Order: sequence, then C-alpha cells, then structure tokens
Amino acid sequence: MAKIINGKKIATEFCDSVRDRVSELKMRGISPRIALINASNDPASEIYVSKKEALAASVGIESDIYKFTKGTKEADIIELIEKLNNDEKVHAILLQSPLMEGLRFRELINHISPNKDVDGLTSVNQGRLFSGEPGLVPCTPLGVLHLIHSVHEKIAGLHAVVIGRSSIVGRPMTLLLLNANCTVTALHSYSRNLEEVCKTADILVSATGHPKIVGKNFIKPGATVIDVGITRVIEADGTRKIIGDVDFDEVSEIAGAITPVPNGVGPMTVAYLMYNTLKLACCY
Ligand code: NAD
Repeated sequence: MAKIINGKKIATEFCDSVRDRVSELKMRGISPRIALINASNDPASEIYVSKKEALAASVGIESDIYKFTKGTKEADIIELIEKLNNDEKVHAILLQSPLMEGLRFRELINHISPNKDVDGLTSVNQGRLFSGEPGLVPCTPLGVLHLIHSVHEKIAGLHAVVIGRSSIVGRPMTLLLLNANCTVTALHSYSRNLEEVCKTADILVSATGHPKIVGKNFIKPGATVIDVGITRVIEADGTRKIIGDVDFDEVSEIAGAITPVPNGVGPMTVAYLMYNTLKLACCY
C-alpha cells in the first residue's frame, strides 16, 4: 500500500515558515501585499480567490480583490494592471483564470510586470524557467516539486513523466523536473501508448482534468504518483465531489507514494502563492 502524501499537512507546515518570514519582513518595514484580479464568471474562481484571500490573511500578507463583471473590456483590466504595476505597496499580482468570455489570458498576463508576476506566467518568467535562470515559477508545479521532495531525498537521474502540457501546470512542471536533473517525458493529448510510457516512470505527475484517466496499468511498482487533476462532479444524491486524474483506490495498491484528491496538490498551490508573494516582497 502506497504512502499517502498529505498535501494539507505539508502545506500547513510550509505556511508556518512563510508566516515567520512575513513577520521578519514586517519588522523591517515591508508589508507583503498581493492583488487578486478576478475577471472570471466561473463560480469556482470565486471560491479560489476567497481561499487565497483567507490564507494571505492567516500568514500576515495583505490582499485586495478586484472583481470585474460581465461586459468588462480588456482595456479596463490593463488599466488596473498598470496602476498596480506602479503601486509600490503592491508586490504581487494574480490574474485568476479562466477569464470570462471575450478576454484573452495571454494578452492580459503580459501586461503584468515580470517583477510582480506571482504565478510566473508572463512570457519573461516562462522564458527564465526555460533557460534555467532564476525567476518566478508557477505555484502548482512548485508545490508538486515540494511534495515529490517530501518522499525523495534526491531526484536527479529519475525518470519523471508529466501528463499535460499547459503553460500553468504541465509545461513548467516538465521544465522544473528537467532543471532538477530528472530524465523527463512530456505526454499530452496527441501522445501514443500512454500506459506503456507511464509504466516506466519513477515519478508520474498527471495534470489533464480527465477523471481517473490514470489506472493501475499505468504504474511501475513503487512509483511516486502526483495527481494535479481536479474535476468537480455532482453525485446522484446531490453531493458535490472533487475527482482527480488518478484512480486512487487501485493505484495506491501499486504505487510507492501517492497524493490524494482533495488535500494533495491543491493546498500546496495556495501555499506557494504565499511563498511567491513573500519572494516578490523581499527580493524584487
Ligand atoms: P488544460 O486543459 O489547460 O491542460 C490539460 C492538458 O492535458 C493538455 O496539455 C492536454 O494535452 C492534456 N491532456 C488532455 N487529455 C489528455 C489525454 N487523454 N491524454 C494525455 N494528455 C491529455 O488544464 P490545466 O490548466 O493544465 O489543468 C489540468 C488539471 O489540473 C485540471 O483538472 C485543473 O483543474 C487541475 N489543476 C489543479 C490545480 C491544483 O492546485 N490542484 C492547479 C491547476 C490546475
């Protein structure tokens, strides 16, 4: 039976260390502050943004939510971003995705100053990650790497397989693991023989959003399996549930270590948002 990687507990401990560093920074007269821009009409975004606001408050980070409603134009958001870029009190800016219809994410994200780009999504920070230079790295893959290190002292030379190649999860995850000297295979919706390739992985990270796509036939015995996927479902009795990419029950029989959904990667993503805000407040 696999070791369960308790993302909630690891994130809580990590946030404790962030809180300590925030207080030290405040004693030096710097009060870390994040701007959370919500131009989404997805109800889940509302929940995510308020969770981020609550966690920020709990670690001593100031936050402001900027909510945009239907009919918002890209120019309105760009105007706000430019104001925030020039506001010395604001260290970090997050543009919550998905955006409402008619707004282009890549067009807007690149208006955020790379020095306030808390989720490492501007082309500048993505380029830095590509070339192995220091910069801001997306929070979810950073959180995943932390979870991997909780069960592996060394990962250099291990074969890591990443399913998914989005610019927010899969692609930066692939690069982070490559920069950590893993041998990395990137799989996506056009890849063939998924099962066969995954079965050679020492570390398997799945980020597709397809519930239970990863079954026991994908797993090398003893492998570490990290499930990033989140699919919201409503059961026949009306209860709401979150399902991951991995069939937890069958995979946990074979894997060496596995993250649950919920309480695996999710809490780490928000914890790293706090960490990146702190980093921007003290180092940029
Ligand atoms: P996305 O839709 O942008 O990308 C999905 C990727 O999966 C694509 O690159 C696609 O090629 C690949 N894919 C889709 N179907 C596939 C298949 N059958 N075989 C192989 N590859 C396939 O999504 P995303 O933003 O990268 O998010 C992925 C999942 O992770 C979603 O469920 C999302 O909700 C979740 N997520 C979780 C967190 C967290 O904190 N836990 C954070 C971000 C995203």
